[in-house]
Amino acid sequence: MPDKKNTEERISKSIRDLKPYSVPEIQCRIRLDGNESPYNLLNTISDEIYESVSRIELNRYPDSTTRELREKISSQTGVPTGGILLGNGSDELIQMIIECYTGKSGCILMPKPTFSMYRISGMVLGKEVSEVDLDESFDLDTEAIKEVISEKDPDLFFFATPNNPTSNRFSRGRIVEIIESTSGIVVLDEAYFDYQGDTLLPLIETYENVVVLRTMSKIGFASLRLGIMLCKECIIHQVNKARLPYNINSLSLVLASLVYEKYDIVQEKIELVKQERERLSIALAGINGISVYPSDANFLLLDVGDSQRVFDELVKRDILVRKLHGTQRLENCLRITVGTPNENDELIEALSDISLS
Ligand code: PMP
Repeated sequence: MPDKKNTEERISKSIRDLKPYSVPEIQCRIRLDGNESPYNLLNTISDEIYESVSRIELNRYPDSTTRELREKISSQTGVPTGGILLGNGSDELIQMIIECYTGKSGCILMPKPTFSMYRISGMVLGKEVSEVDLDESFDLDTEAIKEVISEKDPDLFFFATPNNPTSNRFSRGRIVEIIESTSGIVVLDEAYFDYQGDTLLPLIETYENVVVLRTMSKIGFASLRLGIMLCKECIIHQVNKARLPYNINSLSLVLASLVYEKYDIVQEKIELVKQERERLSIALAGINGISVYPSDANFLLLDVGDSQRVFDELVKRDILVRKLHGTQRLENCLRITVGTPNENDELIEALSDISLS
């Protein structure tokens, strides 16, 4: 019989009280909770898949240089291959950037509310996390951020633009003002940029301390887990040291390369989701008791009053959305991913029905 040992006391202090990233366990027919694309584009590359997959040497490690895929991304973005690093989702890139670029003050600044993994990864790695409330229009509060800069000199800043869960872009002028006020690394997370088209990518040319993150997760390929980091080569050189060997598996490399060869189809679906976003937004705003925030992303932020009741009623109707309980200022809100036209119709009908009950 092994001794009963107390392993609790060995847990890192920063992890002990941390709430993990929550992924819902509820299963629903209509899933509008994950900000994924509703379109499965597997069929559009199915002819080429067999040929490419049959060339994979299953017994060998993947190509750690990821050169072929980086070349395709380079042609699309105009960023040299040396300025591109791939991660197992942008989640992994966020973690690697924190590992590398918290060497002076150890402080990371992010707005509140925003994507929760910046805070979680920062805490897991034992960093000081400084959260600055967004202003009343969910834009960056530059004065408050500059105060933290003079007090704590953060090493690292995370700005998701468009922001999750508020769905708006931050104003470019404010972002530039912050970049110019610090020598810390400013990460501009463009996970949702495809849904509004405007990008801050040219800033990596002007400012050495800017990193842009993109992902394939929101445009139809969440299952591949592919995040993209774009910046000056000197930053990639450092972050690459924290990369685990072979972090991108061969199947993801092959499938993602095929996707870049057929990017028109991806773009077509992005346009469809944008059109549906406008239609859904207008229809939902017409329902009694619901207000819709303007969205630059593939999801909508809705104020619905009693969000727990509306969430439960939607689940009863087999529709899963994202509750924002525990998110300051958004207690009455739900986050809803734009689905297919049929899914959106069902959502509109369900919410109209719930508003009458
Ligand atoms: N950044 C933002 C702003 C996100 O909302 C998400 C996913 N919800 C991510 C990054 C993570 O993306 P990935 O799937 O590439 O890890």
